[in-house]
Amino acid sequence: MPRTHKIEDYRNFGIMAHIDAGKTTTTERILYYTGKSHKIGEVHDGAATMDWMDQEQERGITITSAATTAFWREKRLNIIDTPGHVDFTIEVERSLRVLDGAVTVLDGNAGVEPQTETVWRQADKYKVPRIVFVNKMDKIGADFDASVQSIRDRLGAKAVPIQFPIGSESSLSGLVDLVRMKAVIWDNDALGANFRDEEIPADLLDKAVEARQYLIDNAVELDDEAMEAYLEGNEPSEEVIKKCIRKAVLIGAFYPILCGSAFKNKGVQTLLDAVVDYLPSPLDIPPTPGIDFRTEEPVVRHASDEEPLSVLAFKIMDDPFVGSLTFCRLYSGKMETGMSLLNSSRDKKERVGRMLQMHSNNREDIKEAYAGDIVALAGLKETRTGDTLCDPIKSPVILEKMEFPAPVIEISVEPKTKADQEKLGVALAKLASEDPSFTVSTDHESGQTILKGMGELHLDIKIDILRRTYKVDATIGAPQVAYRESLGRKVDIDYTHKKQTGGTGQFARVMLTFEPGEPGSGFVFESAIVGGAVPKEYIPGVE
Ligand code: GDP
Repeated sequence: MPRTHKIEDYRNFGIMAHIDAGKTTTTERILYYTGKSHKIGEVHDGAATMDWMDQEQERGITITSAATTAFWREKRLNIIDTPGHVDFTIEVERSLRVLDGAVTVLDGNAGVEPQTETVWRQADKYKVPRIVFVNKMDKIGADFDASVQSIRDRLGAKAVPIQFPIGSESSLSGLVDLVRMKAVIWDNDALGANFRDEEIPADLLDKAVEARQYLIDNAVELDDEAMEAYLEGNEPSEEVIKKCIRKAVLIGAFYPILCGSAFKNKGVQTLLDAVVDYLPSPLDIPPTPGIDFRTEEPVVRHASDEEPLSVLAFKIMDDPFVGSLTFCRLYSGKMETGMSLLNSSRDKKERVGRMLQMHSNNREDIKEAYAGDIVALAGLKETRTGDTLCDPIKSPVILEKMEFPAPVIEISVEPKTKADQEKLGVALAKLASEDPSFTVSTDHESGQTILKGMGELHLDIKIDILRRTYKVDATIGAPQVAYRESLGRKVDIDYTHKKQTGGTGQFARVMLTFEPGEPGSGFVFESAIVGGAVPKEYIPGVE
């Protein structure tokens, strides 16, 4: 099938948030409004469309990093799921690598939270253009202005509202669209809630005029022509304001702030409009760097079907119906089923067998994929997360590698019987191949099997999979901090984070934030420390 959407009509984006801010609910509503989801409900009742794994539903968090294709206003959206828990920052990191833009969801009650900061910093590192959705505006105590201020104070980011809510808590009835200078009023709380344009209520007019002024002042600054016209007294048109906001998002000059309540079906359609209007297409982002497979010279790949094929495998996961799937982003070229590929990262051959496009309620078999697409390949043998796949003949390339930080926490596992030992071996080999931040080793002294991961919860999940999926019966040791000599540098320990991320049982959580430029900078490591105290020997570089 030929390309159905021009590459400029693609929006590959993720939704990032602190846990419980409403990422899953927002995603679910997006899938509803984009017409592809037939199933909707309380996410924590287990109906979340993107959460495929049992434990995710039980725990109410999103761990896997699937991608779902949907459509809005003639644009093709690929929604890349980013996990919300800090234990999985590595998963966030790798989804950030393949998305072009992001929606940051805040809880309107809490504003910026610790994990918002973590994912924001990671997004900064990959220069991901962002818009912000202040969710839960129906909640008691929700405060839009305070949330906007928390973006400025805690993220040091220039926040420019392009909307503000009308009414609050249970009387949240609409929003003021500052670009169009209209009030958007929702009919009710029902799913698929309709909305209509009205004039801005008289009592909000002054506030709207002032907020629009702030928006325009910041917007026209980015466009000489608009600035000149504005200085001559011409109010910029809606088109011009949108163009300037888009530019601001692409270069990170400021972050447009939207509002609503995903749960009450308010503000999701306007959020989708903003995704289309302001987030980048693959053509808006810089070409993808890599090295020539043969000469090792630096090269770039442009988002074009005409360039040689370059593909990044960013996530391997088990699909209950299809088996192991490798999620891939096509940066350039065209891929067809039956094609021979080179895994240039490992110098191995692969073949494109079955190729799928994942929608929220079905898996579509496709024969061709194009630059900008995100697809899932079934049956790859050699490919691991982070590998490049490319055309073996036409200028093979290795795309810039993803970085995976060293694990921070470890536990021992001791299988109960010989049969368990065997099952454990098979299971761990599979789990380690899917997740580069999860490693398996043997302790030389005790002969025990040691699992290392990014946090307590990360390892909990693996143990859960060992027990449920692989039926391994084993004794599990207590979590220990994995000491990483390679990262033995000066670190900041932020005790405020410790409080906010909380802990389970006797384990407290502490965030180790590395100095900019340090190895590991940009990541926030989480450690579980017995009793809540931080033994000095666990903190690299601290005397
Ligand atoms: P995630 O952890 O970021 O994926 O958050 P979820 O989407 O799972 O939402 C966490 C909790 O907040 C759930 O109980 C949701 O029902 C609730 N929630 C999500 N969005 C809203 C909202 O707009 N308003 C209110 N009042 N609750 C919400």
